[in-house]
Amino acid sequence: MIETEPLPEYLVRRYHGWKATTYAENRAWYRRLAAEGQRPRAMVISCCDSRVHVTSIFGADQGEFFIHRNIANLVPAFAPDGDHHGTSAAVEYAVTHLGVTQIVVLGHSNCGGVEGGHAMCSGQAPDLEEKTSFIGRWLDILRPGYERVKDRIGGEQGMIALEHEAVLVSLENLMTFPFVKEAVEAERLSLHGLWTHIGEGGLHQYVSATGTFEPV
Ligand SMILES: [Zn+2]
Repeated sequence: MIETEPLPEYLVRRYHGWKATTYAENRAWYRRLAAEGQRPRAMVISCCDSRVHVTSIFGADQGEFFIHRNIANLVPAFAPDGDHHGTSAAVEYAVTHLGVTQIVVLGHSNCGGVEGGHAMCSGQAPDLEEKTSFIGRWLDILRPGYERVKDRIGGEQGMIALEHEAVLVSLENLMTFPFVKEAVEAERLSLHGLWTHIGEGGLHQYVSATGTFEPV
């Protein structure tokens, strides 16, 4: 038997506040969403970090974005090995069932996951190298990106080069999924790499022609 506790008071209060305002003002929209199902145009893959507020920076409403969040906004390579693959399942659902027309990988500044990846790849975090570290094994996805930019990390730019790599490695890995590759080649789907500066509210997009991230 699983034991749970009653919801803390602050969450109960916040819920009732939402129900009396946002929900009450948009009841018809919510009912339509419930009746018609979701038809989001875009999937967003972002970090779990509580400061990355996807729906806020795009001014989004319910039903607009299919969002998947994980540590350091990483997508693993296609690996049909019968194991549990939460991120791959979300990508598969978005592309093959919902037919989203964009996948946006959204990285961010001051990413603790990327910082952990840097510590591990540079040999400063033996705990993350343990086989039993879920975080470490997840951050293994970032290793090829670390190898590409390890000489450019640190100083004033800090982890930005590696935060960008977390986006680029994920975009590369997305293309290893046959259904993603097929949809991209058929021009039914486009991929986008973004990085947001939390303190400045900035948003940069990857420009493949120049290989750089430029302000939106
Ligand atoms: Zn992060």
